[in-house]
Amino acid sequence: MSDTCAYKDPDWEHQGQRLDCGRPRRSDDPKGYCILHSSDPRRDCTEFVDEVIRSLANRKGDFNGCNVPAGTIVDLSVQRLEPLPDFTATIWNEHSQFILGQRHLDGHVHLRFHGASFHDGVVLNLAGASFAGRLEVDLGGATFLDGSAANLSSCTFAGGARLILSQCRFEPRTELKMNSCTLREMVWINDDHQSGPLFAGVLQCRGANFECGATFMGSDFAERSTFEGVDLRNVTFRNCSLARTSLRNAISIEDAEFDNVRWATPAKQRKQRRASWRVAQSWRRLVDEANRVTIQDEVDAMASMSNEKITSGFAAAERVYRGLKKSYEKRADHPRAAEFHYGEMEMRRGVESQDVV
Ligand SMILES: [Zn+2]
Repeated sequence: MSDTCAYKDPDWEHQGQRLDCGRPRRSDDPKGYCILHSSDPRRDCTEFVDEVIRSLANRKGDFNGCNVPAGTIVDLSVQRLEPLPDFTATIWNEHSQFILGQRHLDGHVHLRFHGASFHDGVVLNLAGASFAGRLEVDLGGATFLDGSAANLSSCTFAGGARLILSQCRFEPRTELKMNSCTLREMVWINDDHQSGPLFAGVLQCRGANFECGATFMGSDFAERSTFEGVDLRNVTFRNCSLARTSLRNAISIEDAEFDNVRWATPAKQRKQRRASWRVAQSWRRLVDEANRVTIQDEVDAMASMSNEKITSGFAAAERVYRGLKKSYEKRADHPRAAEFHYGEMEMRRGVESQDVV
């Protein structure tokens, strides 16, 4: 019986590279795996992290198929990362964390989390990092399970660096934060149109800069999702739900493409209204309860607690409706453009009526 880890990655043989993990096996592991590949929940977090750091110090960045114990914090903000770690197909158990820190990574190499799975409470934290050269941050095919989150806020992808999110699954009650993120290239395409929405979590990208555009396909953005302040000129939403997504202060809404996008139905929105009595009264005067598509920004305005906020909310919603109207006009979708025109007018009347209240 060998002393080394029995873990075999299907890819290793296929690629003709290394055939084994090479790390010492744990004496009591039923499968004969090392500390990184074992799935024993009693493993010591510190021991796990020490092994990761030891591997990196030995220029071994291959963590393919590792199983991160619950609660482990893998903080690589000060480690030497040559080569970049490869966390392909890793399993991140409850409340574990990956922290990259505000570091600058460059070159042709890739930071891989391809096919990894992130469990409840896991945070994949890449916030503040910058990527350049031909570097790829690969989250393709990764699964974010209920309660997990990825934070890419303030990340910069310059040069040919790109973020790959294709086939990535964000389940409901997950969160992807990309606030103030600068992205030259992002791959967010769901190739398999049959499998339903791959993104059902909250996407927050306040002030993000999608320089070379983005296509969101088959995404069902959850409540609190926002594109606030984002320049949408090269952004396409296809087969998406934006029923609960804020587009407040977004730039160039008219240049974005909205293709088979689901907006909220008035009936659904009515339940969410928490407006004060006074506002509700004026609202009743205002709103023709016909089947008018409604945007989240209007709902948010209605939920505001002061007349001032309601007025500014209506004004913001009016802008969004106008942008949407123009976008649909450009694509000669006149019936839809007319619906948003109606929303725009309602918001304008809303602002005016608040002014006189
Ligand atoms: Zn191993």
